[in-house]
Amino acid sequence: MLQLNDTQKAMIEMVREFVEKEVIPVADELEHADEYPEAIVEQMKEMGLFGITVPEEFGGIGETLTTYALTVVELARGWMSLSGVLNTHFMGCYLINRFGTDEQKQSLLPRMSTGEIRAALAMSEPEAGSDVQAIRTKAIADGDDYVVNGQKMWLTNGLRSGVVMTLVKTDPEASPAHKGMSMLIVEKEPGNPQPAPGLDVGKNIGKLGYKGVETTEMNFADYRIPRTSLLGEQEGQGFRQVLDGIELGRVNVAARAVGVSTRAFEEAIKYAQERKAFGKTISEHQAIQIHLAEMGTTLEAAKLMLYSAAEKKSQGERSDLEAGMAKLFASEACNEIVLKSLRVHGGYGYSKEFTIERLYRDAPFLLIGEGTSEIQKTVIARRLLERHKL
Ligand SMILES: Cc1cc2nc3c(=O)[nH]c(=O)nc-3n(C[C@H](O)[C@H](O)[C@H](O)COP(=O)(O)OP(=O)(O)OC[C@H]3O[C@@H](n4cnc5c(N)ncnc54)[C@H](O)[C@@H]3O)c2cc1C
Repeated sequence: MLQLNDTQKAMIEMVREFVEKEVIPVADELEHADEYPEAIVEQMKEMGLFGITVPEEFGGIGETLTTYALTVVELARGWMSLSGVLNTHFMGCYLINRFGTDEQKQSLLPRMSTGEIRAALAMSEPEAGSDVQAIRTKAIADGDDYVVNGQKMWLTNGLRSGVVMTLVKTDPEASPAHKGMSMLIVEKEPGNPQPAPGLDVGKNIGKLGYKGVETTEMNFADYRIPRTSLLGEQEGQGFRQVLDGIELGRVNVAARAVGVSTRAFEEAIKYAQERKAFGKTISEHQAIQIHLAEMGTTLEAAKLMLYSAAEKKSQGERSDLEAGMAKLFASEACNEIVLKSLRVHGGYGYSKEFTIERLYRDAPFLLIGEGTSEIQKTVIARRLLERHKL
């Protein structure tokens, strides 16, 4: 379906080779140890992956969302956590480039495109995830500063990031609530858990899968930040900005799902031709063939939906419907595919010796991040009803 240009082909080939040589041999071990892949991230920097979509004038490669999505597929085929290291950074770059002032772009994007500083996104809170407008973190203007108070939760890359795109309420009394929401660009020292007075990264949250990349809390207690750190220096735009960024995040999750599904399928079709039961390879048993057929078909459908959503957004068209559908379908499909692959592996699928065990633990996060499946369905239904209004 996709007609790739030479740059895209070269990029995908480079990432695929990197994943085969540098990621696949070490991913299971690093994941089991919950170890941050420092050396791999350094190589990702050298390959320019942190600046894929940043315009060339700011030192990036200036590629499209489609190129980014294809890169994420390859990385997630090796290890899903690597796509997590990129995702919030990518959304941060996008938000600054799309909504930032010239000064914000000049000061941050060149350092972000090299990966020298990387971005996290702080939207969710202990009491507010799907219901974004229910956030409580406040930024109240005081002279040339905002004074920020509140608690953020689930920050992927929370500790190692140097920029945290933070959704706050600058007018907590606004009605509807989204009119009082704004986005702050919080700059901090990467790796420091207490980078400034009133700012505390909080604890790393232990997880079922998606290990290696940290997921943290972040606490603000009378933290002062200059008013010039407001994204676009305009209050009341945060909700719109974050939803725009999340549309891209949904394409990222669909791409991860395709990457994880591809690997689960590859592991199953290989194993099925090696393992023998009742005097023949299990691939000769019809029940296993049905699993393989269903996995291959669903994976193909997920890929096409991903390409369609990525291309639409790359061409600047509104794509919330397509991104929502691709995210919903690909993440649900991925969870079915990893389970089928685990079944094909029999008892060995339950062992840490086999990669499918890791994929099986990684996949459920795809049903939750960037909007749960239930929320995707409400977004999709709303758009369909608008489109087909009587
Ligand atoms: C590993 C990990 C990394 C994350 N990284 C980040 C990050 O970097 N930045 C960030 O800001 N957040 C991050 N998140 C948070 C994530 O976006 C939220 O967990 C997600 O949006 C769901 O919110 P919640 O957990 O509060 O669930 P809730 O909103 O409490 O939902 C609980 C259940 O109720 C359902 N539900 C809620 N509302 C409705 C409704 N209106 N209709 C139907 N069903 C509904 C949900 O679908 C879900 O099944 C991360 C989460 C995880 C687990």
